[in-house]
Amino acid sequence: MYNFGGASKRDSVSLLRVCGIGETVPGLVFGHAAKDRLADIWENNTILKELREGLPHRFEGICGDCVMKGICPGSCVAQNYYSSRNLWAGFWYCEAVKKLGVFPVTRLQTKCEFEKRLVGVMA
Ligand code: SF4
Repeated sequence: MYNFGGASKRDSVSLLRVCGIGETVPGLVFGHAAKDRLADIWENNTILKELREGLPHRFEGICGDCVMKGICPGSCVAQNYYSSRNLWAGFWYCEAVKKLGVFPVTRLQTKCEFEKRLVGVMA
């Protein structure tokens, strides 16, 4: 959570939000630096709680199927939300790569689960 960006807009400088995207997406503004305690926001904001509890297992789309979601995770949740208004949406780039049919199948959980089963059958 950042308190940067929007330096030209004096009022928005004090908003506590997820990166600069919060400047244009009210749903990603969690409080005001002059009025709210950061600890209170972190502990009580429903979106932040939802993110802490849901990452990475609630991802949808390609990120939901990706073995990298615990490391990546989803590239940028704020960007995904900006594009879709869904906190759990897949990252647009990887969604596009999947639609083109060139997303690495070895990075899909379904592929890995298939391989585990195959190894089990062959053992
Ligand atoms: S699909 Fe792409 S953005 Fe999503 S977790 Fe995997 S590598 Fe990261």
